[in-house]
Amino acid sequence: MPKAKETVLEIDLKALQHNFEYLKSKLKSNTKLLAVVKAFAYGSDANIIANYLQDLNVDYFAVAYVSEGVALRNAGITTPILVLHPQPTNFKTLIERCLEPSLYSAKVLNEFILVASEEKQTNYPVHIKFNTGLNRLGFWETDVDVIISKLKNTTVIQVRSLFSHLAASEDLNEQEFTQQQIKSFKSISDSFSDKLGYKPILHLTNTSGIINYPDAHLDMVRTGIGLYGFGNSTEEDKHLKPVATLKSVISQIHNIEKGETVGYNRAYTSKGFEKTATIPIGHADGIGRHYGNQKGHVTINGQNAPIIGNVCMDMIMVNITDIDCQEGDEVIIFGKHPNACQFAETGNTISYEILTAISQRVKRMFLK
Ligand SMILES: *Cc1c(COP(=O)(O)O)cnc(C)c1O
Repeated sequence: MPKAKETVLEIDLKALQHNFEYLKSKLKSNTKLLAVVKAFAYGSDANIIANYLQDLNVDYFAVAYVSEGVALRNAGITTPILVLHPQPTNFKTLIERCLEPSLYSAKVLNEFILVASEEKQTNYPVHIKFNTGLNRLGFWETDVDVIISKLKNTTVIQVRSLFSHLAASEDLNEQEFTQQQIKSFKSISDSFSDKLGYKPILHLTNTSGIINYPDAHLDMVRTGIGLYGFGNSTEEDKHLKPVATLKSVISQIHNIEKGETVGYNRAYTSKGFEKTATIPIGHADGIGRHYGNQKGHVTINGQNAPIIGNVCMDMIMVNITDIDCQEGDEVIIFGKHPNACQFAETGNTISYEILTAISQRVKRMFLK
């Protein structure tokens, strides 16, 4: 790996392939795999990640919004793309770019049928989402008959899949609740398919669901965080490889006397003669202010350097008093060790947040 000369997010495509194959090894051979590439593929680079996965014959993609699906089509993605949370104002664009909507309420279903018929569509593939306990998006079990009667009265749409989302698949203290969700989804999807007269694809599990609930894989699974190297448990993290490494460099070193302060609002006071390094990465790059004041730390030449004072927009200052290092040396924020999950914990958050927070200003570099 080349040493960083500026702030970069290094993306290891071989690690992605490893994770893809590891997750596939958990599935039956005929279970489809949907790769979730929303939010720039969890902060990495959706176009390159999706093209790489498309070459590995992934079955489906999902994004959150229509604009993300449009970007993938522009990047040459021809694999089906499920849009998890489309807004009706974008339905025409969605149809023009052959994106497939999740329809989760009567209002959204009606609006989609209207736009699809204006666009002279027949059998346009849609995905019906049910709420089984997350209480975020989705029809209720009691809506089945209304949806079915709408579907029987139109030829413009066809149901490609039925799905729901688990609320606590990573939390083994919530197994009872999760089993209830699985049961509820199976009952909804059975009755829906019976009334519909054909069998849509059924899918329920995210990464932790794949790992913890093999009986709930159904026809397809949806994986996001697992592809990027995290399994929401230290045990699973051992089998996965982090795809993203966030690196930077030391811009400047300062020697300060006891009682001097560092950074805005003089938040840090030196306890003696100390050495600090200034790193060109700040809250505008995704390192939130909650990592400041010695909560988070970076790694320089294998040693911990705590972030001192407040995180600035474009910089952080770290304590390097006991570290042998020079201006221009590489700095690791997260990667293999500590990984993004461990770094996130120091800021009281989770891998998902730190990964997706890395802003577009940070240059992406790819290892093939
Ligand atoms: C984001 C998302 C996923 C992916 O979840 P991971 O925990 O990252 O695997 C799956 N399904 C839905 C509906 C999502 O919104």
